[in-house]
Amino acid sequence: MSRISIVVPVYNEAKNVPVLFERVSDVLTKTCPDLSFEIIFVNDGSRDDSLTQLTHLENAHPETVRVLDFSRNFGKEAATTAGIRAATGDLILSMDADLQHPPELIPKFIEKWRNGAEVVIGVRKNDASDTRLKRMGSRLFYKLIRAVSQTDIVPRATDFRLIDRGVADEFNALTERSRMTRGLIDWLGFRRAFIPFTAPNRLHGTASYDMKKLVSLALESLVAHSLFPLRLAGYIGITIIILSSILGIVMLLDRYLFVWGLSFSGPAILANLILFLVGVVLVSLGLLAFYIAHIHTETQNRPLYIIRKKR
Ligand code: UDP
Ligand code: MG
Repeated sequence: MSRISIVVPVYNEAKNVPVLFERVSDVLTKTCPDLSFEIIFVNDGSRDDSLTQLTHLENAHPETVRVLDFSRNFGKEAATTAGIRAATGDLILSMDADLQHPPELIPKFIEKWRNGAEVVIGVRKNDASDTRLKRMGSRLFYKLIRAVSQTDIVPRATDFRLIDRGVADEFNALTERSRMTRGLIDWLGFRRAFIPFTAPNRLHGTASYDMKKLVSLALESLVAHSLFPLRLAGYIGITIIILSSILGIVMLLDRYLFVWGLSFSGPAILANLILFLVGVVLVSLGLLAFYIAHIHTETQNRPLYIIRKKR
């Protein structure tokens, strides 16, 4: 009998957790009787009585519920990582605790897995619940990261995703510290399938990912998945050097051979010289960036390649 592990990061979700448990276990027992399941809740330093609720559930259903309790708030990415590491199933599904990832869709994920997908990703349809700013921000972010990163990152892909045991083992072997779960799973590759869904509003409480957290997560994943920002200085420097060199040649020709009779002023020539030197400095920075980029990939310590173990 195959076993599915459901991983749920929990931060201040006391009211949502019991509902989530009911709906998940309901769906699974009804539609997938051939699968055994465990639900791993990772309490990410909640300040409400989420832990009490989780302990209740754990005591009432010791064979299906497991609770990991973080000593403080480490963030959703850490919580999901901990859950995946603790999971024992042949397939592992991560989902939010606030019921924005409808449990009723889980059978669809499992079906895709049965049909050979190793990663099944819930993709959010554009929905009205987000503010215009948030939608614009996310569109911009995905444009940017797709343009500058080698990883194939799918727009609006969520953490509502199912991974096969093989993928989870590779995921668990990754050692880098600053991480975005989605991005890393995307980096791993494997056969992927997608399930579009409309996310309802969260059941209780308010989203804890405010604009500030989202922006910092976006920046962090940009840095983790691309070296482009580092190299940008170098590219700007090269452009400046080329432009100021051309201008410098024009100035020299004009001053000593009187080609065009433009008679550039002394300060203008000086300004161009300074511009050229700024270009040189930026190029040196860019060069430094290449070395740092090298160190960056070395310390990320990702495997050179991943071989599928089971075909
Ligand atoms: N979460 C977490 N740690 C945090 C913030 C959030 O574990 O520091 C969990 C939260 O309990 C929920 C999921 O991550 O299960 C998504 O959080 P939220 O609904 O606030 O984010 P959004 O829906 O805006 O992505
Ligand atoms: Mg939410």
